[in-house]
Amino acid sequence: MFKKLPRKRGPKLRKRRMHHPESLLIENIGRLVTMQPGRGRLGRLGVIRNAAIRCMHGRITWFGPDGKEPVLPRTVGEVRIDADGGVVMPGLIDSHTHLVHGQYKKDTFGKPDFLPIMRATQESHFDVLFEHASERADEVLRHGVTTIEVKSGYGYAEESELKLLNVVRALGDNHVERFIPTLFVGRVLSKARASRVNDIIKKIIPAVRADHLAQFFDVCVDEHAFRRDEARKMIAAAQKSKMLVKVHADQFSDRGGAQLAAEVGAVSADHLEYISDTGIAALAKAGTTAVILPGTTFFAGATRYAPARKMIDAGVRVAIASNYNPDTTPCLDLFLVATIAITQMGLTPEEALLGVTLNAAHAIAAEHDIGSIALGKRADLVVLGVDHEIVPLYRYGASFLRTVVCEGEVVWRHHGYNL
Ligand SMILES: [Zn+2]
Repeated sequence: MFKKLPRKRGPKLRKRRMHHPESLLIENIGRLVTMQPGRGRLGRLGVIRNAAIRCMHGRITWFGPDGKEPVLPRTVGEVRIDADGGVVMPGLIDSHTHLVHGQYKKDTFGKPDFLPIMRATQESHFDVLFEHASERADEVLRHGVTTIEVKSGYGYAEESELKLLNVVRALGDNHVERFIPTLFVGRVLSKARASRVNDIIKKIIPAVRADHLAQFFDVCVDEHAFRRDEARKMIAAAQKSKMLVKVHADQFSDRGGAQLAAEVGAVSADHLEYISDTGIAALAKAGTTAVILPGTTFFAGATRYAPARKMIDAGVRVAIASNYNPDTTPCLDLFLVATIAITQMGLTPEEALLGVTLNAAHAIAAEHDIGSIALGKRADLVVLGVDHEIVPLYRYGASFLRTVVCEGEVVWRHHGYNL
């Protein structure tokens, strides 16, 4: 049913080649969902009806009424796509995943199980990790995701963590979507907590920094993870190494993780099932984006979702991410996750769509480059075969994706779709 992109296999890494057409014009768009309200646009998502959009050299250079695009010089080559009256919106952004891990066979919907995945990750050769993560990277694109944040963590030990982050780098070199690498420290496995913290500060952070392997540092503050004082020390070291900060906060109990995220100027605080009112106020004041992970609560059969409605009403910017991992949340379908945020957490469809686009861009500090349709932004777009942007959320689990554009290039299209 899908036309697959050729899969890049094997140990030999090929540098990806992007063939930006000089110009790409998508015309006959029923609803262009810009994600930014404005004059002549409809509603909170800034919808422009009967529109067209032009990208040149990978950037958005014009959008407006269909058929009114500026004339290009004849020498400029242009690829044209007929959206057939459908919806065009920014490519989705998954701002929280654990995409790279050793293969792990789980035949029950059981309890979380970190150790076997860690062992499989440590024992797996780079090429094997890369090959399996590559398959998932292809899957990500088929869900309309054009930027994905990927955390390390399952390596645990320094050498394995560097291996994981090098896999993320190789994914970026070999796939068309963009990968945002994060050094993640979650579990504390030994009783010698101080030496683990010391190892992270003295060995792992400097090694990651030396090879520029991570843009973000993410630390888990929770009952099976780090305490606030330990996290604060590691965050200070990461910030000295010029990494931006994320915090896995308050997933299983309120440990003040959200307050810590606000205090250190974190870009995002993620999870937040047990965030307190004080934590909510702190995030709102600091402008830290809350990343909610509804798929995790859903898959656990739990009922305690993060209080996203309350957070939004308190002025917190909320992004929605998959938290893909092989253990507690093996799902990369971001539209489906957004539907859970609507039905279980009280978000409006507009808030959910912002959560997987513009607010997700904020969650990875990329809001100036991606996440909305604006002049000069990167031309990452999806074309959907629906007459309204609510349909992919309402008809959850179905795929209406027709075309995916990364940096002005058509990188995936539905089989048989008429370009
Ligand atoms: Zn996570």
